[in-house]
Amino acid sequence: MYIVDVHAHLDFEEYDKDLDRVIGENQSSGVKAIINNGVNPESNRKVLELAKKYDVIKPALGFYPVWAAQAKEEAFDAEVEFISKQEKIVAIGEVGLDYIKGDDNPHGDKYKNEMKACFEKLIRLAEKKRLPMICHSRRAEQDVIEMLESSSLKPNQVVMHCFMGRQHLVKRIIDKGWSMSIPCIVTRLQQLQENVAMAPMNQLLTETDSPYMSPHIDIKRNEPRFIIEGLKKIAEIKKLDIDETSKMIYMNYQNLFNRF
Ligand SMILES: [Zn+2]
Repeated sequence: MYIVDVHAHLDFEEYDKDLDRVIGENQSSGVKAIINNGVNPESNRKVLELAKKYDVIKPALGFYPVWAAQAKEEAFDAEVEFISKQEKIVAIGEVGLDYIKGDDNPHGDKYKNEMKACFEKLIRLAEKKRLPMICHSRRAEQDVIEMLESSSLKPNQVVMHCFMGRQHLVKRIIDKGWSMSIPCIVTRLQQLQENVAMAPMNQLLTETDSPYMSPHIDIKRNEPRFIIEGLKKIAEIKKLDIDETSKMIYMNYQNLFNRF
């Protein structure tokens, strides 16, 4: 099996106690690559450390939209500068826009303009570094798409993570030649199943958003190896064999990210 997870957060405290074991178990279950997405300055540094320690972890550095909008401008700019100097990263992520008010976003879309200004700077960074961007777009799908469309990013530089926008927006993503990374909860979310049905195989990737969104009701903490559940669903929708499906997605991963 060739399992790839293009969106995980193994730097989060949920893995502090047993990351060695988690990585070992995941590799013996066929996980070939995990793109760990950084979410703020502290997380970005931890991601770089993890990537040094574990071969299977590939570093993506970014700034989660909610925290980017709350950061002081100088601090945000300093982090963009830090990221721009990193030679061994495979993507810019996690980045994007988030307009939904909740525990992890107390202000909702109140600081929308600040968020957009930060995202704009991160788009410039991805253009300059010629790296793919891994984009979060919760309740801000149209704005994210429009900002990406007006950039000079190439089709192979955009990955929409856990995309939950309307069907005409899914179509726009597909027409642009961008990729969508499908979380393993595709097993129970019809909208994600429809995204899979609409997209050509060569525009699909797999992800977990670990530690969140476990496909198992009785296991709260997600892990990259659980992508097997997502792969089964994708294979079923695309009427393919599961091994074939995993190889095709692995190839998509290599085409987009495998620089080192
Ligand atoms: Zn995430």
